[in-house]
Amino acid sequence: MVSRIQSEDLGRFDSSEKKRILDADIFAEEAHFGQKRKSGKPYITHPRAVATYLIEMGVDADTVIGGLLHDTVEDTQVTVEQVEEKFGGDVARLVDGVTKLGQVDYVESDVSKDRHASSVENIRKLLLAMSKDMRVIMIKLADRRHNLKTLNYLAPDDQKRIAMESLEVFAPLADRLGMGALKAEIEDLAFEYAYPEEYKMVKKLVASNLSAAQDYIEDLKKDIATLLKKNEIESISIHGRQKHLYSVYKKLTKAEGDINKIFDLMAIRIIVPNIQDCYQVLGIIHHNYKPLIYRIKDYIAIPKPNGYRSLHTTVFASNGRIIEIQIRTPEMHKEAEHGMAAHSIYELQKLSKKYREGDTRAKSNVSKQKIEWIQELAGLSANSQVNSSTEMMDNLKIDLFKDRIFVFSPKGDLYDLPEGATPLDFAFAIHTQIGLRTQGARVNGRISPLDRPLENRDMVEIITRKQPQPNRQWLNVVKTASARSKIKAWFRQASRESNVTTGRQLLEAQLITWGYKKLEDIPTKQMRVALDAFNYKDVDTLLQALGEGSVALTTVLRRLMPSLPTEQKKDRLPKTTLETTGKMQVIGAPDLPCMPATCCKPEPPDVLVGYVTRGSGVTVHKSGCANIPSEPDRLLDCQWQYVNSGPTTPIKVEFTADDRMGLVHDITGLVLSKQMNIVDISTRNDAEDVNRKQISLSLDVPDMFELNGLIQQLKIRFGVKSVSTQVVKKTSINAE
Ligand code: MN
Repeated sequence: MVSRIQSEDLGRFDSSEKKRILDADIFAEEAHFGQKRKSGKPYITHPRAVATYLIEMGVDADTVIGGLLHDTVEDTQVTVEQVEEKFGGDVARLVDGVTKLGQVDYVESDVSKDRHASSVENIRKLLLAMSKDMRVIMIKLADRRHNLKTLNYLAPDDQKRIAMESLEVFAPLADRLGMGALKAEIEDLAFEYAYPEEYKMVKKLVASNLSAAQDYIEDLKKDIATLLKKNEIESISIHGRQKHLYSVYKKLTKAEGDINKIFDLMAIRIIVPNIQDCYQVLGIIHHNYKPLIYRIKDYIAIPKPNGYRSLHTTVFASNGRIIEIQIRTPEMHKEAEHGMAAHSIYELQKLSKKYREGDTRAKSNVSKQKIEWIQELAGLSANSQVNSSTEMMDNLKIDLFKDRIFVFSPKGDLYDLPEGATPLDFAFAIHTQIGLRTQGARVNGRISPLDRPLENRDMVEIITRKQPQPNRQWLNVVKTASARSKIKAWFRQASRESNVTTGRQLLEAQLITWGYKKLEDIPTKQMRVALDAFNYKDVDTLLQALGEGSVALTTVLRRLMPSLPTEQKKDRLPKTTLETTGKMQVIGAPDLPCMPATCCKPEPPDVLVGYVTRGSGVTVHKSGCANIPSEPDRLLDCQWQYVNSGPTTPIKVEFTADDRMGLVHDITGLVLSKQMNIVDISTRNDAEDVNRKQISLSLDVPDMFELNGLIQQLKIRFGVKSVSTQVVKKTSINAE
């Protein structure tokens, strides 16, 4: 017997709402009668779990009812009309919305064109539904959460697909809505199925570190409580908090394999009555524990785009142990866990509509940022002119599912851009005309290249010229879909003829890589396949599209020359293991000599704290070692030197490339982005062509497929014509 929802669970609803919810509970039970889940349990357990979680999130009664009925129309005899008759139009629209979303298919890359297109279509549906009524998405998220909890009953293929889709679509969506608790839960549930090996490893790592940290955290909590009391600050709660596994994993796999970040495993969270107290507590903490510079974050003055507010700091606590501390009010805490759901979300959306229509009262009630991103989502899905599904998918991933940064105009206006956005994106975010007339940019008062990614809190000033003069190269520089579409729109106005010519030049400049001189050298059949893939009637249409920038050169090459590796691969988390060379280094000063302390003999993956001795370099202790001198000014942030593990092959790669400023720097950047270790690099002038350089790279290559990708990119980006590769000390192979 499965217990029904009880009236007592519905405390905050009024009596008529309670009755409707209880009625819906019985209605759903009858509708699903006799059906079973894959687990063998009665089907009703699923909608009930969904509704129970929605109640916890603090949603309105209609949404709870929608949760109870979300599968009735799809899986039973019940119709939308029946739902409307019994529970009203709003509930019917919610159920209909969830039903229409169906399954949002996740497809890894363009393995098969059709499936990819259908997944884009589904994401488009998701966004459209969301822009109409956010409550549909909340039901969908609660639905996904429970499906993940019962994922063990599905076939392995389905497990993997659903898990990946949850990590790539649903968790970022929950995050963007500010639902921190749900996001963390979805991620941890999916992590185990998406990356089983990594999951086991991180779990083990966390467990072994946590058990050691427990007592320490208890003591530290007491110390902090005493400090606050002494300063007459009332604390509502102080508790030790464990970072969730997937976020630990992400930290570990983030660029440069920052293994030292594992000190973040435990954090202390202090909740105090009001904002003033928050800042006071921060002062008290910094007065008593030395903060790690660059790790102090004021999300109260500048909230994250999803509304998250809190103060964060990371300090050297007693014994030099590094601990993160978060300080916030109860209200901030509630919002951080449940996001906008903590308010009545539909009300917010109605307000946002009024706001757009210019209602001033609405303006004071809703934060501009929340409205803007709701609008952004709606706009992206509805007005999108993008006809290539791959491109659409890429745009969506970049705009919605990436971390955001804040930058300021010289007047102090705040702009919210995706991470990696450049001054050009900023220019277009201000106004299309400013974007098109951009000549240069000043970042924090200094002239900056237009393609250098902006950092959080940069102050950006755009230098404009009198007339619009965009450059096709800009399409490779901008990161936001809106800037890209504005640039494309401008080029679209240029004449067809000149576009065809430009398109031909662009394409032919690359063909040499594949041994063709002219477009006409490409076998007709091969060209036809590409044209069909894009739905272009003839070559000129393709060239025009290329010339006007409505299709990217790499996209065309990928279709035309199928051996070009897809770019998407690099968006995924790099597969790394947590191996170190066993050497220790000071973060930011890797050349300082480090010596392991003889008292605690640190070993990977211990968290490290360096102590600057008088005259003999840095002694590195295990974080928490009792022998660390209590001289905060002499403590340094240290880490294990990190390596890509697994067997690597030593390979010598030789080629000639067009010489230009920054060539070597760009090549090493490309190699490092492929997770290959550069053992040696040498360059000399080419004997035959003064404008070219001969380059020789010695690499440790973990994956020969990546090597192939590297070679293709060298050819495309650096004018490299042929590459010779040689396995060092083994048999030689040739890529040509
Ligand atoms: Mn369901």
